Amino acid sequence: MARPVIGNIVFELTEACNQCCRFCYNYWRDGSSPLPPPDPGLARKTLRRLLSQASVGTLSFSGGEPMLLRNIHDLALAARFKGCHVNVLTNGTMLTEDALANFVSLGIGAIQIPILSADASVHEYLTQLPGSWAKATDALRRVASVMPNGAFAVLVITAVNAPGVPQTLEFIRGLGVRKVMVNRFNIGGMGLKHTAELVLNAATLKQAFADVEAFACKYPDMRFVSGVCTPLCMLDVNPYPHIQFSWCSTDFSRRPVAVSYKGDVRFCNHSPHVIGNIWERPIDEILTDPATVARYAEVPARCTDCPLLSRCNGGCRAASEQVYGSFAEADPILNGC
Ligand code: SF4
Ligand code: SF4
Ligand code: SF4
Repeated sequence: MARPVIGNIVFELTEACNQCCRFCYNYWRDGSSPLPPPDPGLARKTLRRLLSQASVGTLSFSGGEPMLLRNIHDLALAARFKGCHVNVLTNGTMLTEDALANFVSLGIGAIQIPILSADASVHEYLTQLPGSWAKATDALRRVASVMPNGAFAVLVITAVNAPGVPQTLEFIRGLGVRKVMVNRFNIGGMGLKHTAELVLNAATLKQAFADVEAFACKYPDMRFVSGVCTPLCMLDVNPYPHIQFSWCSTDFSRRPVAVSYKGDVRFCNHSPHVIGNIWERPIDEILTDPATVARYAEVPARCTDCPLLSRCNGGCRAASEQVYGSFAEADPILNGC
């Protein structure tokens, strides 16, 4: 029987990470308990099981920090062998020359590395890892030189680094990078502890995107995407036509589904709620379970009559799950958190 097709999966190779970013959305990253060390054997077995259950279009290796997995290239090879496009979402601090050369030879599609500021002290204030700025910027410069179409800078915009967005974008361009993800701070994980300091009010958010838009107009050879939905009643995206905003969908065929190295399946990588485990049931059964479909079909009360609902979908409701424990609430940024 043909395997079901799943377009986009974020495969989390480990919970562990060498950074402790103030904005880290990983729901397990609340600082309450030590993170388990990477388990390369389990990651390999779970990936094999996942790829036996579904035909996956794009598989993004994430974490935690995926470069902590000593067998990440073997995992990438296994996925490529099954026909997947493979991306790597890394903080860049451990991307050696050899590791990058191996990714190139494996045909990795994209490598995404956060660059949070042109100023090392701001970047490292946010990552809480001394030395991380030089390593991340060096890694991204090398990625851009060998994979010009697959090098992505990720600029997570918080209240801390928002004033420096124009300088950060100039710096990123100077690295040779032409593709930038501009994601607003989205509350969750470690970010729950730092919300008051990091969260963007509407005016700061609009100014930050206006800065990105102005930069995009100046440099038409660059591409800007924004992947974290912001409620349209908070941010009208019409003034920013050079930024490609993507919208969340409760239809799993139109958003990335998260699968952990343990086999846990979640709505997306921001969601803390496990809807099943692929060691217990095939992933298509998990995703199409009527109870799961009903859970994600709920509409927030404030959005019921909104004409923008079909596009906006209430903003990021995985953040609502992290803050309120419910998918049925609209994005918590509407309440300033
Ligand atoms: S945001 Fe990424 S790099 Fe930062 S602590 Fe979380 S997993 Fe690590
Ligand atoms: S759907 Fe909800 S969050 Fe989105 S614009 Fe409408 S009221 Fe605001
Ligand atoms: S719920 Fe939030 S994090 Fe998850 S896919 Fe939608 S916008 Fe992205």
